[in-house]
Amino acid sequence: MIDKLEKVKTTCVYCGTGCQVYLKVKDGKIIDTKPVRDGFNPGLGKLCIKGWNLHEFIHHPDRLTEPMIRKNGVLEKVSWDEAINYIADKFKQIMKENPGDKRVIGCLSSAKCTNEENYVLQKFTRAVLKTNNVDHCARLCHASTVAGLAAAFGSGAMTNSIDEIADADVIYITGSNTNEQHPLIGKRILEALHKGAKLIVADPRTIPLSELATDHDGIQMNQRPGTDVALMNGMMNVIINENLYDKEFVEQHCENFEEFKEEVLKMTPEKAAEITGVKKEKIIDSARIIGKGKAVSLIYSMGITQHTTGVDNVKTTANLQMLCGNMGKWGTGVNPLRGQQNVQGACDLGALANVFTGYQKVVEADKREKMAKEWGIDVNEMDDQIGYTVVEMMNAAYDGQLKALYVMGENPMVSDPDINHVREALKKVFLVVQDIFPTPTVELADVVLPAASFAETTGTFTSTERRIQMVREVIPPIGNSKYDWEIVGLIAKAMGYDGLQYSHPKEIMDEINRVTPIYGGITWDRLNQTDKGLQWPCPDPSHPGTVFLHKDGNFSRGKGHFHAVPFKEPAELPDDEYPLILSTGRVLWHYHTGTMSRRSATLNARVPEGYVEVSIPDATKLNIVDGEKVKVSSRRGEIELKAKVTHRVKEGLIFIPFHFKEAAANVLTIAALDPIAKIPEYKVCAAKIQKI
Ligand code: SF4
Repeated sequence: MIDKLEKVKTTCVYCGTGCQVYLKVKDGKIIDTKPVRDGFNPGLGKLCIKGWNLHEFIHHPDRLTEPMIRKNGVLEKVSWDEAINYIADKFKQIMKENPGDKRVIGCLSSAKCTNEENYVLQKFTRAVLKTNNVDHCARLCHASTVAGLAAAFGSGAMTNSIDEIADADVIYITGSNTNEQHPLIGKRILEALHKGAKLIVADPRTIPLSELATDHDGIQMNQRPGTDVALMNGMMNVIINENLYDKEFVEQHCENFEEFKEEVLKMTPEKAAEITGVKKEKIIDSARIIGKGKAVSLIYSMGITQHTTGVDNVKTTANLQMLCGNMGKWGTGVNPLRGQQNVQGACDLGALANVFTGYQKVVEADKREKMAKEWGIDVNEMDDQIGYTVVEMMNAAYDGQLKALYVMGENPMVSDPDINHVREALKKVFLVVQDIFPTPTVELADVVLPAASFAETTGTFTSTERRIQMVREVIPPIGNSKYDWEIVGLIAKAMGYDGLQYSHPKEIMDEINRVTPIYGGITWDRLNQTDKGLQWPCPDPSHPGTVFLHKDGNFSRGKGHFHAVPFKEPAELPDDEYPLILSTGRVLWHYHTGTMSRRSATLNARVPEGYVEVSIPDATKLNIVDGEKVKVSSRRGEIELKAKVTHRVKEGLIFIPFHFKEAAANVLTIAALDPIAKIPEYKVCAAKIQKI
């Protein structure tokens, strides 16, 4: 009987909602997943299709189980000692040959790894490799959130909690396909609708939420990709002109209103309609609903952030919510939904080129002194400049400046923009890849290190609502694989640094508590005693944690800052040669670069290959039928995949999910970056489709 099997409670890894699961074990194998129904669960005792099949990839025969070194062009099995010493010698040699050059080695950390593992890798990068060249794929998804919300509010995270969404009376969702990407958060939206909430959805594609909005007497808008600032400025123009804004909140809790207002008043609804392609009446009606709402929750995701204007877009969401006083109260706020399970934690733990843990800036001398003291290193040897971000590392590798790259749990050969360029860059460096499966990035590695999966690891993840929850070791590491934190410690030791020798992740969390004010009270013991986890900020062990930020309009930075944000066009617009706009994203059945979900038999059976969504008018024009194989190209490359002819995209727009390495959407995408967040513009580039 399955119910009598041993079961271990842990956290789902397929999105940032943080649903709690039991993994069931038989004869040393994880054979089933069940939702936690006998305790706290952000998923309210339910799982989505990915969650139900969480166990399927863990024992897949493709798992990497032995360290390997490339010899004569072929990856050969070696001992751990040989692999670790080889890496340590190579890193030391590169540092010796480039004395004082802090840009010659880089590390990619991972939103798939635990908080403790991310802490360890950023510490290794800074204390041993003496560089701030550490980053991870939050740079590619929510770097604009971190920068934009920090500038507006003083804190770059989801302001409110998942539970509150069900109590909002208006929900404005833009650039988030919530029901497919965060299904259990989508459930809270449904709950709110059943209580009478109004739903407004702005998305270039018609997504399931768009249909829900229409069905529930809400508003659905398909704006032209990359015109979010114009859309929201147009709405705020109406809110100000019709005196629907919260004057008291603005006067008492915000600053720079007049400059912001001057900019917004330039964007009339007529002008916004012309730029966005959304009917003026819909912009006006949406503005009135939001302006009159009592508790408006604004939800967004990568449709807002993955633009060269990503930070502008995020600042505009902050402007809208401050304008109507929808901050610091239950059921309100600016709520960016995080995609990978620990992308919030990897940012919090300093796996970013510009900050230590808790967003303490690397350019501030007192923060470097604090870390140097804790880590037992000479502060004068630390890097005092911001390091290279993900895309900058690839460019530096391509240019020959970066000599080595250590990748822990990332797959840039599928996730990064302009993959042909990434391939050339990675071929030029000494490449170490630590992962659980052979990925296209592993195929280019000089050394491969097999890591334990989440089910073989103890630690913590931080969910999208800033909630730190336990991840528990259900079975020991498979084969000859090791914990990520243990591997990093072995390389550090071989390089002569003893400050990364831990016997258990608890010791790492103790250190995190000491150096990270927002995690100061999130102790290992407390996490083990509560089934609810703890939400940061939680500065000391007596603090209960924080459900929503900026309570009563008391913003983390003092006053909320309005930014005057003019509309700017995307970096690459369609033209005669490439007449379509390509946008990329995800599907319900898969997770990130497909490394895990495509090894889940159930999930892969539903969507086994990539496809391109084409509008009915474009398909008719090009004489393309549903299911036909086509060639899609951009200025950077071309791929072949099946066409899906659908009403989901409007004429002139195509959409490709990025999970599939054989038809990698990122061969086509552009590496144009937001100037502040350095996030690439995945959501807009020019492309064309041809019959084969
Ligand atoms: Fe897992 Fe996210 Fe689905 Fe919850 S909503 S079961 S965390 S994938």
